[in-house]
Amino acid sequence: MSATLIDGKAFAATVREKVATHVARLKDEHGLTPGLAVVIVGDDPASHVYVRSKGKATVEAGMKSVEHRLDADTSEEALLTLVEQLNTDPSIHGILVQLPLPGHLNEDLVINAIDPAKDVDGFHISNVGLLGTGQKSMVPCTPLGCLMMLRDHHGSLSGLDAVVIGRSNIVGKPMAQLLLGDSCTVTIAHSRTKDLPEVVRRADIVVAAVGRPEMVPGDWIKPGATVIDVGINRIDAPEKGEGKTRLVGDCHFESCAEVAGAITPVPGGVGPMTIACLLANTVTACCRANSLAEPEGLTA
Ligand code: NAD
Repeated sequence: MSATLIDGKAFAATVREKVATHVARLKDEHGLTPGLAVVIVGDDPASHVYVRSKGKATVEAGMKSVEHRLDADTSEEALLTLVEQLNTDPSIHGILVQLPLPGHLNEDLVINAIDPAKDVDGFHISNVGLLGTGQKSMVPCTPLGCLMMLRDHHGSLSGLDAVVIGRSNIVGKPMAQLLLGDSCTVTIAHSRTKDLPEVVRRADIVVAAVGRPEMVPGDWIKPGATVIDVGINRIDAPEKGEGKTRLVGDCHFESCAEVAGAITPVPGGVGPMTIACLLANTVTACCRANSLAEPEGLTA
């Protein structure tokens, strides 16, 4: 491996430390405790694991954590009533509704019912519009984490060619907006892109957010490029024993690491940054709600 490893776990620890320091200052100087409410509907085990780790990280950062676990058959009306209660609760500065929601609930309707100032996932249509027009917004956590790592590694991103593979509302599109905001020349590639390998070979920065295990091989990567692998894919790992699995990204790590200048691993890359950025967004929302200075380096 010749690439520098971008250690998301270590970087996330520094972000969480910054958040905790700022939370302590908010308490000491202003008597404020940032609060994050997470709402989960149904019993999807993976979602429950995510919600638990979000709650734990929130408490570890010194913030208030509230979890609302609702039955899978909760009505839209009941969910919207809860969101409205949280919107008006002064002790709650961030609201996150864990996706996906059960099929009978309209996700767009629910997300757009959240007060945009408390929308720490950055999915509310107002925040999407603010980000798209280069205005102050709540920024989706995963792309924000990727941007922080890229800025830390490169300093300035101005003028670099960036290719984002994937055009989801959660990762691909906001990532592209953030890179554009930092003056990259941005290409969004997707399932219908013609000659994806050639498109990716142009990139100084490759962000892969597809959800296909190891689909980007090293020979698609321009020598020296930075590779940010957002994908999280569980694959069989017979070498670890019968029935065992392991996590891989969307990039073939070994071959990409031979060519790239820098690369994030999976696990231990983008994943830990996502939760760190959720905490960062919550403290930012608390500061904005109270017209206080925002912590430096924790927003886009
Ligand atoms: P998604 O399914 O919503 O979007 C996938 C995108 O990939 C689509 O826009 C599609 O056009 C594109 N795509 C599909 N096949 C393609 C192909 N053959 N070539 C080029 N593009 C193709 O997924 P998502 O929510 O954006 O997530 C993407 C991946 O990132 C998943 O593996 C997900 O688990 C992971 N993820 C990780 C984190 C984290 O914290 N690390 C957060 C969110 C998502």
